[in-house]
Order: sequence, then structure tokens, then C-alpha cells
Amino acid sequence: MEILEQSRAELSEWMKLLGQPTYRANQVIDWIWQKGVTDTDKMTDLPAKLREELKSEYYFGPKVVKVDKSQDRSKKMLVQLIDGNVIEMILMKAGHTTVCISTQVGCAFSCKFCESGKKGLKRNLSTAEIMSQVALCRPRPRNIVFMGVGEPLANWDAVKSSITRFVEEGKFSPRHMTISTIGLPNIITEMAELFPRVNLAISLHAPTQKLREEIMPSAAKAIKLKDLILEVRRHQRATGSRETFEYIMIDGVNDTVEHARLLSELIFEIPCLINLIPYNEVSDVSYKPSQPVTIRHFLKTLRDLGHSATVRRSQGGDKQGACGQLKSRR
Ligand code: SAH
Repeated sequence: MEILEQSRAELSEWMKLLGQPTYRANQVIDWIWQKGVTDTDKMTDLPAKLREELKSEYYFGPKVVKVDKSQDRSKKMLVQLIDGNVIEMILMKAGHTTVCISTQVGCAFSCKFCESGKKGLKRNLSTAEIMSQVALCRPRPRNIVFMGVGEPLANWDAVKSSITRFVEEGKFSPRHMTISTIGLPNIITEMAELFPRVNLAISLHAPTQKLREEIMPSAAKAIKLKDLILEVRRHQRATGSRETFEYIMIDGVNDTVEHARLLSELIFEIPCLINLIPYNEVSDVSYKPSQPVTIRHFLKTLRDLGHSATVRRSQGGDKQGACGQLKSRR
């Protein structure tokens, strides 16, 4: 069995069956999360016999098979899963270290501007596979963003248990975790109840239902724009947090001053940050990034209307590791 498929309680139970004190489970967890050791042979403060038993019962499946270092010092890491599927994660260093992890192999929501869904959804990642990505990072990251391949809320059970266990076993702070999502009905509300301090980033990208349907058809069908805004408003009230809206800037598609005004009206009552993302080019798509001057006008319009807005600094683009460019490339 994948060792990370076992929670602390389950691992303690197993230790008990072997006649071991339950703190042995904590030792294993500390090796993985605090010392960055995933190989049970190297967990040297465990009795040799127990190490043997751990080894015959558990394995750590996911392996880093390739690391691409970008000029900006971010790293794209290719991780091979036990069934041969490959996923990507990005380790970024801008002040604190942030890891951007995947939640699915492929994605069912083929948004037109995004590479990740080009081949549809292959399968969900398990809790262990989601957590392994972070466990494989050196150095240990501070921030975890669920912003890689896949739609986190479409694999909610595994994402949910990963968050719980990142906090309890990995000692990561919920405040340092962010879920980026197209928004799925009711789950945002559940997020507010279960994880009020985990940050929410909404992939909005369009100020009207019609335009959202055009550029992200499946997502726009999964939740109507007005329902999405209602859920985010509810989430904001329940958690008191400042929400983030992500907005890709695509030349001539969603980037006029009029779009900025509509966007402002749409989210007017929600305390939020609008994060403008210059469109990164992906294969076989005719979209072009907005001109820098267009982005400046858009940004100024939003700020003049009283919003907080920033332009996301892109990392990893030279290694096809930037937003929207992740797939499973070998
Ligand atoms: N499915 C989730 C998680 C993936 S996050 C979501 O959509 O939020 C990936 C982020 O990169 C999202 O904000 C997404 O909209 C953005 N993105 C996708 N394609 C992009 C592209 N070509 N250029 C820039 N950003 C892109």
C-alpha cells in the first residue's frame, strides 16, 4: 500500500498490531514531512526489524523522473505515478517557496485557453498522490497551491482529506494553502465550513455568462456565473477573508475597458483581489496575450473603480511550466 494512503490514526493502529508503541507512527510521519525522507530504509531511529516490516507492507509510489530548471529559478518537476501516468508540479521561489500541485491526470473541463484539458480527464489522483507531490519537494515549501493540472473541486474527497492531513501530519498552515477553481456548486460553501482559512481563488476569466461560455464552455455550464458569484459572496461572508478572482487577459477577447467595467459591477460587493494573468500561449490555440498597454488600461479601470488588482508575475514560462501550460509532457 502507498504509505501516504495511511493517516496517522491508521498507521498508529498498524504499529499497535505489531506490538509497537504508537509514537512510532509519529516518527515515520516526521521523517516524511519534517526531514524529507520517504525511503523507510533511511528512517534510522526505527528498530531494524520494524523498518523491514514497513518495507514489506508499504511503498512510496510517486517518483520524480525529470526536473526542468527555469531561468527564473522555478523548477518544473515531472512525477511518475505507480501506474505509469505522469503529472507535473512547479516549485517556485519568490520570497517563500510555493509548490503548485496537480489534483487530476488531465482535466474534464477543457477550457479553450488551457493545455491541461486538451486530452480530457484520465483519472483522479488519490490522496496519497496529491500529498506525495509536496513530500517530494526539496526544500520543504511553505505555500501549497492547488493550481496545477485538474479541477480540485472535481476531486473533492481526495483534496479534502489532503488538506486535513497536510495540516495535521505535515504541519502546514491552512492560511498558506490556496485552492484555485472554476467553482462547482455547493462545494465552495462546504469549503467555507470545513476550511475557513484556506484561500479561495476563482478562475473567473469573463464578466458575463455568454463570454464565459465561449472561452470555458464546460465550466460555464457546470455553474452559472450568477450562482458562482452568490457562492463566493457567501464564502466571503462566512470566512471574512478577501477572495481572489483570476482573470486571464486574452487579446481582443475579454480585455477591453468595457469588460473591466462589467467585471467591476459583477463583483462589486465582494472584498477581493483581482489577479490579472497575462495569457500564456498554448499549442493549437489562436488566442494571443493582451498587449501590455491593454493590460495597463484594464488594471487602471479596475483601480479607478475602487478595486484591488494586480498583474500576476509569470514563472516557468521558458519550461512550459507557467499557468495553463501544464500537461504530462515527457
Ligand atoms: N481547474 C482549476 C485549477 C487549475 S489552475 C482552475 O481552473 O482554477 C490553473 C490556472 O491557470 C487557472 O487560473 C487557469 O485559468 C489559468 N490558466 C489556464 N490556462 C492559462 C493560460 N493559457 N495562460 C494563463 N493562465 C492560464
